[in-house]
Amino acid sequence: MNHADLEPLIILQAKDTEIAKLAHTLDHLPELRQKILIKQKALIKDALETKEQAIAQEKKVRSIEVDIEAKKALIAKLKIQQSSTRKNEEYQTFIREIDRANEQIDELETQALLTMDEVEAAKILLTQKATKVKEAQALVDQDLKKFDETAQVDGTKLKQLREERQAMASKINPDSLEQYELMVKGKSLPVIITMDERGRCAACHMTLTDSTRTRVLSARELVYCENCRRILM
Ligand SMILES: [Zn+2]
Repeated sequence: MNHADLEPLIILQAKDTEIAKLAHTLDHLPELRQKILIKQKALIKDALETKEQAIAQEKKVRSIEVDIEAKKALIAKLKIQQSSTRKNEEYQTFIREIDRANEQIDELETQALLTMDEVEAAKILLTQKATKVKEAQALVDQDLKKFDETAQVDGTKLKQLREERQAMASKINPDSLEQYELMVKGKSLPVIITMDERGRCAACHMTLTDSTRTRVLSARELVYCENCRRILM
């Protein structure tokens, strides 16, 4: 690489950095999209579970009501049997059975009331969750639209930057360009880096030797960082 080629390569590096940043943003869009969709799916699943709970509890109430009706029918039947018996012992048995059925009805009615309370609570929770899903969906739609716009705008911009880069690169000495590109492949950008005011490589922060510092400051030749082998300027 020639020292004379350093200046156009620094400009090319700035373009490459811009391209890398934009490409990184675009590459991450599908991941971001996936992330918010998974989050939304979880919200919907949670709301659906609450809905299923409410339905199950309602079913339970209806089943208890059926049981109560059955007990009432049983009492009616027992009362008819009771009125037709003449034996005192049998009569007493009917009384006990009717009492037991009435107690069971009381228990079932208490159970039905408690379950109805649970249904109400689940329904309130469901309303809250449904609102949350709806609000979140509006944000999701907004984000997805934004991602689509970014993909389109940045995609066009990236294409343009790559064309500009191509034009720039074609004007640089091919050997120097090849060496720069090999360095970019091997290390992360930037590969041409400043020496900071304390005489350190701004990329790896290694303190450079006096001789290296002097050579960098004289700006007459290519100088490499002794540690990370990036070109110093
Ligand atoms: Zn270094």
